[in-house]
Amino acid sequence: MKPLILIAEDEPALADMIRYNLEQEGFEASTALDGEEARLRIAEEKPDLVLLDWMLPHISGLELCRQLRRAPETKHLPIIMLTARGEEEDRVRGLTSGADDYVTKPFSPSELVARIRAVLRRAHPAGDDETLSGGDIEMDLASHRVTRAGQEVHLGPTEFNLLRHFMKNPGRVFSREQLLDQVWGHDVYVEQRTVDTHIRRLRKALNDGGGKDVIRTVRSAGYAFEAV
Ligand code: CA
Repeated sequence: MKPLILIAEDEPALADMIRYNLEQEGFEASTALDGEEARLRIAEEKPDLVLLDWMLPHISGLELCRQLRRAPETKHLPIIMLTARGEEEDRVRGLTSGADDYVTKPFSPSELVARIRAVLRRAHPAGDDETLSGGDIEMDLASHRVTRAGQEVHLGPTEFNLLRHFMKNPGRVFSREQLLDQVWGHDVYVEQRTVDTHIRRLRKALNDGGGKDVIRTVRSAGYAFEAV
């Protein structure tokens, strides 16, 4: 699916130019000529990213950016601010409006597209839904397949989720409480020692082939994944 970019820009010629270039680069684009229209389009069309001109009629880009950041459904919506050269830019930089990036006018279409791609990449990191690897361990998240040194490792669902959490955050120490919260979820009541049981199972499964232990026990703190 093509990413949808909303262009909020009150100069029609510039909005059309941006739209044309984005469509050439494989994006879908829609335009809004003022802040109010942009707000409505964002709510209706749910774009993947918004290009927001700093100076817009009705609601300024800056104010709209703040509103979007305050609303739960648009809190993480990627936003790139378009600013004019000069003092506007300095002022915007000094303000914590919450935009992901700023592009100063005039800009080249290729620069703009590069910045859009970079912000979209940060919003959806590659590998997030594919494979994880650490040392000789590989996880294929789509097929739920785990291998160590090329040998298949059989894990129960909880052990699988634990390992995925560890491998997404290598080296980080998690307390039992954090693991319960982040792997089991808030709404489940499980005793903390349940974590130890599943860690033991995970270790056993991973180390069956004689590999080194990759789960480090941190005394009185918790556990961490360390690829060897
Ligand atoms: Ca403007």
